[in-house]
Amino acid sequence: MEKRDLVREINRLRKELNAIVLAHNYQLPEVQDIADYVGDSLELSVKAMQSSAKYIVFAGVDFMAEQAAILARGKTVLHPEPSSKCPMAAMITVEDVRRARKKYPGAPVIMYVNSPAVVKAEADYVVTSSSAIKLTSQLDVDTVIFGPDKNLAEYVAEITGKQVIPVPESGYCPVHVMIKPEHILELREKYPEALVTVHPECIRGVRKLADHVGSTSQMVKYVKETRGNRFIVGTEVGLLYRIRRENPSKDPIPALDSAICVDMKKITLEKIYRSLRDRVYAVKVPRTIANRVLRVLERSYEMLGVEIPWKKC
Ligand code: SF4
Repeated sequence: MEKRDLVREINRLRKELNAIVLAHNYQLPEVQDIADYVGDSLELSVKAMQSSAKYIVFAGVDFMAEQAAILARGKTVLHPEPSSKCPMAAMITVEDVRRARKKYPGAPVIMYVNSPAVVKAEADYVVTSSSAIKLTSQLDVDTVIFGPDKNLAEYVAEITGKQVIPVPESGYCPVHVMIKPEHILELREKYPEALVTVHPECIRGVRKLADHVGSTSQMVKYVKETRGNRFIVGTEVGLLYRIRRENPSKDPIPALDSAICVDMKKITLEKIYRSLRDRVYAVKVPRTIANRVLRVLERSYEMLGVEIPWKKC
């Protein structure tokens, strides 16, 4: 089917079925264009929960769709391509967490949102890359266990001054670790006036060269609110599409053109159309796991002093 026809069919089906399409910041431009909302994983899960739609088509990787299914009770969350899985989330297991708890008794377990639901259910807190520092700082302990991204764990340790034990020892995002200090240095030389914003999943050498380190939403905000129009952006290249769309006068430059998450790009307009047409693939999370994850999320919101979104509904 031609792109124009696909978009028309997607629009028809989402109206007929009372469905919405949520797209992560790293999705293909054409997927971002047809989405009802574009954002980071937690923002989108909260949108899924607050929406009155019957079907939520989640254009993102596995753990994101799973999290939306946990929060959007009573709605059907469809993942258009089940093989779209985050390799970093797959690096941690329940056993890793249990072993770490035994080794560091009393240390709370903080889990990055980029992890499977069964692992989140084992944690004390769940954080995003934007809330990790605040939550860790607020805990009245010197040592915490943090998974699965060792780079984010290291960044949290740098900022909070606490001992942060990474679990597993070397979990990482294969996309962000492709960005090296030399890429930033080369671009800084070429564009001396540019400001550098990078994601905390980048390695320390890259973070050290940046003017700003933040989650995807924080990076978008930084570009929007900072004077100057040239920015070197150290994250998956999909974010640059959103930055350009929302800030036509700004000139974001990718830190590395090949920083592409192939799993994110598995979701296409054809697959979104199929998802709506055939109502596939419904995401199911066992009730016991979902309840445990909800409790962990509630505890995390309370620690952050943020109103729990589902208590407002
Ligand atoms: S960019 Fe990295 S963390 Fe995000 S989904 Fe892809 S592999 Fe996972």
